[in-house]
Amino acid sequence: MIDLHTHSTYSDGTFSPMQLVEYAKKKGITTLALTDHDCIGGVREASMVAKQNKLRFVSGVELSVLWKNKALHVLGLNIDINNQALIDLLEIHKCKRLERAKLMAHKLEELGLENSLAKATQMAPGGLVARPHFARVLVQEGWCKDFAQAFKRYLKQGRPAYVPTDWVNLEKGVATITQAGGVAVLAHPLRYRLTQTKLRELIADFKLFGGMGMEVIAGMSSKQEIFELSALCQKFDLLASVGSDFHGEHITPDVMNRLTALPDTCRSILEVLPSYGENE
Ligand code: AMP
Ligand code: MN
Ligand code: MN
Ligand code: MN
Repeated sequence: MIDLHTHSTYSDGTFSPMQLVEYAKKKGITTLALTDHDCIGGVREASMVAKQNKLRFVSGVELSVLWKNKALHVLGLNIDINNQALIDLLEIHKCKRLERAKLMAHKLEELGLENSLAKATQMAPGGLVARPHFARVLVQEGWCKDFAQAFKRYLKQGRPAYVPTDWVNLEKGVATITQAGGVAVLAHPLRYRLTQTKLRELIADFKLFGGMGMEVIAGMSSKQEIFELSALCQKFDLLASVGSDFHGEHITPDVMNRLTALPDTCRSILEVLPSYGENE
């Protein structure tokens, strides 16, 4: 089984890269990509541990981008982590995240939650603060019963602690991934709540900008969703990817075990990943 979408403590996951690779190995994953949000800090460690565990490893990142004012995620697979254009872009995103975290903490403070920036930062050992870190604070402080509630009440778009961020646009994001020798894959296309027309527009733009693939199996996809996405994949002549979007045993239990093989109608993104088989 392959899993080309996972997170570590370098972003909002709860496993270190080493723990993640060892967990994936136990779950029967044979090809793994680490794709932390806007961060490649964990790739080296994951790659080393994967080698020790005889697991095929693909370096990756999950880039936050804007398309028509909407925040989307694009995976960059097989990126060169020493590429300067990519490093520069991630540095800009890191600053934007810090700025956003300050504004979010300010909003939460106004609602009566004290010191949330320091608390969220403490939960982010990689230095990258994401909304799940604030969700953890909200749960720990007894403001919410779980993550879902924290997002629903405070953190998602339209809620009081939400702060919009001007991530790089889709075109620049895809171009930077490509420039870094990577392959751009549109992450979880059905999670953006787009109409059929808008989703097709997005995929057409993504392809135009140089996107190579899209996730056909994303986390807990239903059969119907996999069917729908594989049809879109074929229509737009994109390669298909599989990813659990694993964030740690407590946040996303069972997602890795439940991954399935791609439908026969799809061409796998592995076809264009040169690192495939390198560790054999
Ligand atoms: P950020 O990149 O800081 O905006 O955080 C985005 C991350 O928050 C996603 O990658 C998910 O891990 C998490 N997330 C987004 N929406 C939800 C939700 N409704 N429930 C739980 N986690 C969520
Ligand atoms: Mn996440
Ligand atoms: Mn995502
Ligand atoms: Mn993800």
